[in-house]
Amino acid sequence: MFSSAKESVLETVMHGLAISPGIAIGTVLYIDAQGHQALLQHIELSQVSRETRRLNRAVVLARYQLNELKARMENELGHQHAYILDAHILMLDDKELFKNIKKTITEQLVNAEWAIKIELERFLTAYAAISDRYLRQRGSDIEDVARRLTDALSGKKQTQNNRLPANTIIVAEDVPASVLAELDMTHVIAVATHAGGWASHTAIIARSLRIPAIVGVDLKNHILTTGNTAVVDGGDGLLIVNPTDTTVRRYRDLHEQRRRNFRDFLVQSKGPAVTSDGQEIIIRANVELVSELDAVKRFGAQGIGLFRSEFIFTNMLPQAGSEDGQYQIYQRLSDSVGQAGVTIRTFDLSEDKVPLAITGGEIEVNPALGLRGIRLALRNEPMFRTQIRAIVRASQRKNVRIILPMVTSTSEVRHARSIVNETIKEFVAKGLDVDRNIKVGVMVEVPSAVMILDQLTREADFLSLGTNDLIQYILAVDRNNKQVSYLYQPLHPAVLQSLVWVARVAQANKATLDVCGEMAANPIYVVVLLGLGIKQLSMTPAAIPLIKDAVRAINLSAAQKMVENALQMSSAQEIEDYICEELATKFPSFYANLKWRNPIV
Ligand code: PEP
Ligand code: MG
Repeated sequence: MFSSAKESVLETVMHGLAISPGIAIGTVLYIDAQGHQALLQHIELSQVSRETRRLNRAVVLARYQLNELKARMENELGHQHAYILDAHILMLDDKELFKNIKKTITEQLVNAEWAIKIELERFLTAYAAISDRYLRQRGSDIEDVARRLTDALSGKKQTQNNRLPANTIIVAEDVPASVLAELDMTHVIAVATHAGGWASHTAIIARSLRIPAIVGVDLKNHILTTGNTAVVDGGDGLLIVNPTDTTVRRYRDLHEQRRRNFRDFLVQSKGPAVTSDGQEIIIRANVELVSELDAVKRFGAQGIGLFRSEFIFTNMLPQAGSEDGQYQIYQRLSDSVGQAGVTIRTFDLSEDKVPLAITGGEIEVNPALGLRGIRLALRNEPMFRTQIRAIVRASQRKNVRIILPMVTSTSEVRHARSIVNETIKEFVAKGLDVDRNIKVGVMVEVPSAVMILDQLTREADFLSLGTNDLIQYILAVDRNNKQVSYLYQPLHPAVLQSLVWVARVAQANKATLDVCGEMAANPIYVVVLLGLGIKQLSMTPAAIPLIKDAVRAINLSAAQKMVENALQMSSAQEIEDYICEELATKFPSFYANLKWRNPIV
């Protein structure tokens, strides 16, 4: 499917930040961020008819591609999904639209690409002003059609991301989580990008899907093109383009050896995680995609500690919006985990997780501080009520909990709970067997929640520490911004002090507390969390064997002592060095082979 690459004989090693371990050897698909941008070209009057002909040909080609795609979608996914493409095909038949594009070519004497861009912007401005959410969302369809037309003008075929050749390595400036979740993961074997950080959602998804990934690769002066052979080492943070035969052989051997080690490791890891001084630590799984349910079992998780429900938007359009569509998903989760239970987080929608066109939101200058999580839910009550109805309906087994994201005040929890209670009442009145005592928890992931935790524990049935966001907000470091990723420090003294406070308040109030942020998936940080008295962790399924192994190797009183000492230190580096040194000398079995198992250390 890919055009052949210009072969460069030179092996080139590019460095990045290791965010998802593993080795992959395959073929590069380079997604160029500039690929769809239209450039302005002024034309002569005599060239107008040539430009118009180009436009007509592009429409024919785009229509052909769409019909082909529609037939394939109907075949593979069923008729209900293909209707989106009908709308796109109809747009290509819109006479008014093309009259305007041709008018722009003729009157402004510009190329067809530029005329499409002008018309697109006019449309998008008009759509943005529409109050009806459904209609407003159609703006993204127009963008899609315009992109297809621009590609067709250059004779380029659109890359069908969800139809990739085997052994594809995605290399791009950025692969937003929504795009990553849509890719055909049977064929994508690794990802390497410039943007992103350890706690970005792209990283989280890559780890859940267990594909090697690195970020922070400088692609500006790169020599790589689609079709190049490459190796990604997600443990050491390397992208090797045009590897020599010797390099390929070395990585094949390494890959095989790691697979063997991992298999042994997996077998050992069944059963509970008990520290060497007898404290059991509950280990649950974080899940973003229903397809991960098998992994939850395979890696021996004790239920699902966090279901990031917002990802169903990227995966299961258009059912995601409907109560029945969601109910089926939540029911599947509940059926699959049994009494161990599942915690469903209500939509934590924001621009970095799903395209805004889906949520119908506005473009925000600073989405991390904008209308997101519980704020968006309470502003868009019909959508929130639909989700709560679907969750409550799926609660017959009494193994479902609800958790609210991005809580900053007690009033948000009260408001959300009143909606949950009304929903329960309604279903009970109809004679439905639902859980009347469904638990409603709070994500502790912003500084204000830490500071008012005492009050929040009175409103919430349980607490879950979302360290990914908490670190971002405490340190004022965008978790997705590569420029400041060196400042994203889970062991920064300010973060540590906040964690100490949260653990103390929870203990004093006898509140159930777990950690579901990525800190829970890193053995070094887990030692700190255990030392703080945290006894429940939730993490990406693939990290479970590693963390169980770490828990078994450590003793709780030593971990407590380490935290006490760490609290006297003044920098993240000092703390990390100290903990690593303690572990290496006092717990050599813990430290052995840590590197191949974990990318962060
Ligand atoms: C967190 O913030 O730590 C968390 C678990 O939620 P997310 O990563 O989805 O923001
Ligand atoms: Mg969060």
